[in-house]
Amino acid sequence: MIYNKKELFMTAEQESLFRQKTVKKTGKYFWAALIFVLLFQVYNISYVLYYTDFRLSSQASKVYMGLYAAMVLLCAGAGAAGLLWTSKNEENFSRLLNLYSLFGCTLLFWSACLTLYDQRVSDNLSIYMTSAVYVAGLIYIRPKISIPVFILSEAVLLTGLLGMHLNEIKDTYGVCVNSIGLTLVAQFISLHRFSSLRREFLNRLEIEEKNKMILEQSEKLNYIANHDPLTGLWNRNYLNEWKEKFFSGGTAKAAVLILDIDHFKEYNDAFGHVAGDECLKKVADALLELNPLTFRFGGEEFLCLLTQKESRQAGRLASNLCSHIEALGIPSACPGKSLTVSIGYSTGLMTDDLEFRRLLHEADKALYLAKSSGRNQAVEYLPSKPQQS
Ligand code: GH3
Ligand code: MG
Ligand code: MG
Repeated sequence: MIYNKKELFMTAEQESLFRQKTVKKTGKYFWAALIFVLLFQVYNISYVLYYTDFRLSSQASKVYMGLYAAMVLLCAGAGAAGLLWTSKNEENFSRLLNLYSLFGCTLLFWSACLTLYDQRVSDNLSIYMTSAVYVAGLIYIRPKISIPVFILSEAVLLTGLLGMHLNEIKDTYGVCVNSIGLTLVAQFISLHRFSSLRREFLNRLEIEEKNKMILEQSEKLNYIANHDPLTGLWNRNYLNEWKEKFFSGGTAKAAVLILDIDHFKEYNDAFGHVAGDECLKKVADALLELNPLTFRFGGEEFLCLLTQKESRQAGRLASNLCSHIEALGIPSACPGKSLTVSIGYSTGLMTDDLEFRRLLHEADKALYLAKSSGRNQAVEYLPSKPQQS
């Protein structure tokens, strides 16, 4: 079995995509053959006209002229339909494929007739052979069409050959055997082309689907590796990745802000851990809204980073964050009061990890000051200020 029907089965969507691709592949062979065959007929017609002094006096010249003219008409009709359907919308893939196979099959029958008529003077099968190889090897034809077409064209040839009583029985036998062999090989090539085109397409589709799955999985893993599962903020792992990129970027003014939710232990004690988790998500969303480069640093602690010119805005951002969180109106453990955060921040050059850790340490010191001097406020680290450690 050259092809397995089940193995080559496609869904309607796959079939349509397959035809779309196959139209392009087969189309170029259709146009090349059409132009070649048309030019060949122009030559043949001119030759017959010239040979008979434009009179077409013999029976043979009339038959040849009829066959050549029929092929010119076929080429013209197929060319016009091909041009029309190619220029219209994409829905014509099936029609175009049918046109290509119809053209190929008609060419095959025509070649069988011409070859048969040629047998009066020669025993060559070259025109039939060329058409059969072209149709089998270059045109996509479904087996339910190619099988009857090849059988029928061979039947036309055999019936004609046997009915013509060539010079000797030996000649007839030879040409018959050659044409049967040729048709069998062409049929085999045609089935092979049909199945290999479909299998190739299905294999490529499978590879594309697997690649898509791998890409989706790796995006998922990448997300998991770089995000905090509860809040969806960047995590410490991504902070390390981000730092590497930032340090390799040259001059590096930056501000580091550490935020800590006030009295969060009491919040958990009062409302429970599930409510505490919900609260962390709300705070995280609010922080992200005001500053995209926000990381979950620890339990109820967050890190906001500002770089280059933006680092000058650290003070404004810090106080905005404080008032924004308070304005969320999340009830705190202390009745009548909303949940708040305290912020410590430090600004400076950050060209390597050592400097990052220095800024972090300074921001931590400022946070300690913000906590110890009343909470719900932002405090900047200033070297002149006495900071507790
Ligand atoms: P302060 O105002 O001084 O920051 O007091 P605090 O209570 O916020 O600080 P403390 O460090 O004593 O408590 C932090 C609490 O945050 C303790 C811990 O249970 C809670 N916490 C840490 N991570 C999570 C979390 O993922 N979910 C919940 N619900 N609670 C968390
Ligand atoms: Mg804390
Ligand atoms: Mg806290």
